[in-house]
Amino acid sequence: MLDIHLIPVLQDNYVYVLVDQNTGVSAVVDPGEAKPVIDFLEAHNLKPSFILNTHHHWDHTNGNHALVEKYGCQIVAPAGEDRIDGAGQKVAEGYRIEIGDSIATVIETPAHTKTHICFYFEGDKALFCGDTLFSIGCGRLFEGSADDMFQAMQKLKALPDDTRVYCGHEYTEANIQFAKTVLENNDVLKSYEQEVKELRAKSLPSIPSKLEIEKKANPFMVAKTANELGHYRQLKDNF
Ligand code: ZN
Ligand code: FE
Repeated sequence: MLDIHLIPVLQDNYVYVLVDQNTGVSAVVDPGEAKPVIDFLEAHNLKPSFILNTHHHWDHTNGNHALVEKYGCQIVAPAGEDRIDGAGQKVAEGYRIEIGDSIATVIETPAHTKTHICFYFEGDKALFCGDTLFSIGCGRLFEGSADDMFQAMQKLKALPDDTRVYCGHEYTEANIQFAKTVLENNDVLKSYEQEVKELRAKSLPSIPSKLEIEKKANPFMVAKTANELGHYRQLKDNF
């Protein structure tokens, strides 16, 4: 089993520190900044063996270099991605990554970027999905099409309802405001809005969310066709 620690960095990014309970092996997911991560690692006496990068954007990789310098950890990055410096292992669909006894499977979700990947720890029911799936939202289509994002959503929808969703940004409240304009009378969305409001009022993260909620109240997961998803994405881009 994994201990999962959430570290807020930059404006609204989340970095995750994963520690395998059996072996103490640890990893850092998407270090957009080094300093707060190193402070956390030092305070907990952790020396990460791996960095897991979901995609190349600077707000997910900017801390890579300092962490590698300090800990000599290996960067695990998407296959076909040459925009992540120092990547030691390039992984594609179905690859397994062992963090001690905890095993992640790679799920390719090209859309936000052309090589974006997610890390799925089946045994821990935890999904690290970067900027593909947000709580009640999805990433912008910088390098892929609505069809690509639709395919990605179908893949993630196939995972169990009780999967915890660890995404790259705290965008949930703004996403809910948009979702309310396209999903009317959605009871799951209404109760989730209340829950998130209470968490955020206490400055607590809304993350992780539950995949069950996303399947029912995230417009981009609810969308029945790629066209519908593309329409929502366009509306959201101008919201
Ligand atoms: Zn991004
Ligand atoms: Fe991002």
